[in-house]
Amino acid sequence: MQIIRDIEGLQAVRKGLQGSVGFVPTMGALHHGHLSLIQKARAENDHVIVSIFVNPTQFLPGEDLDKYPRREEADRKICELAGVDILFMPDVSTMYHKDEVKLKAPAYLGYILEGHRRPGHFDGVVQVVMKLFNLTQPTRAYFGKKDAQQLRILQKMAEDFFLPLEIVPVDTVREDDGLALSSRNVYLSDEERQKALSISKSLKRASRLIMAGELNVETIKREMMEMMQAIDVEYVAIVDRDFHPLEKVQIKNTIILVAARVGETRLIDNLWI
Ligand code: AMP
Repeated sequence: MQIIRDIEGLQAVRKGLQGSVGFVPTMGALHHGHLSLIQKARAENDHVIVSIFVNPTQFLPGEDLDKYPRREEADRKICELAGVDILFMPDVSTMYHKDEVKLKAPAYLGYILEGHRRPGHFDGVVQVVMKLFNLTQPTRAYFGKKDAQQLRILQKMAEDFFLPLEIVPVDTVREDDGLALSSRNVYLSDEERQKALSISKSLKRASRLIMAGELNVETIKREMMEMMQAIDVEYVAIVDRDFHPLEKVQIKNTIILVAARVGETRLIDNLWI
């Protein structure tokens, strides 16, 4: 595995790659969720590039940029064992210039739900992902369904800018007890972790209700909220695949999303129906 930190080095190596390239952008502190993206990329492509970059432009002032977990050594081993060919780990001054040309997330998709709670977050995401796409020129790029809104925005960016690549969604990986894996789970105390389980439990409850024929969105939301009384729920949203609110669940065209604070930690999770 080659570790590359500079732009020229990456561009030179990319130029020499023949065949398909799978790309997995991450912010590091890798877990089995990231690994699942890497494994899919490994299975579907001739070459695999992973990036680790804690992107400052997608953090709002007061968010956890400074304390975001950084585990370079462990991450490097995980990538090596997973058969990654190139690990790109630039620093901030390598990725950003002064007074840059800026991309903006779509006015609707970028500013509802996560974008409403974290205004400007998705602008930072599209800015960095476009840079990473231009550098790695992937055939396929892999993103988790856990970050459903991010995934939809990046699919739209690829469409809108006619990017010659495929965005591949990957299912959410969970702990045995249902908690969605996240680099931010390390912030949780034992007690908070127990409380956080109510998020995935409420999604499971929603899934059972729907399987039993309950399609009314307000009823499902009410049942979910009841299960999450011990945590600070920011939103429960039931939307179609383009993130338009629904009154009735549409089978194969619905995403149920939850964002909540458990102590100081902000968690998101979702279920695709
Ligand atoms: P991050 O390092 O948090 O920016 O995540 C990098 C990529 O991993 C994103 O595409 C995430 O959606 C994806 N990801 C994060 N957590 C999970 C998970 N539990 N299961 C699957 N993919 C995930």
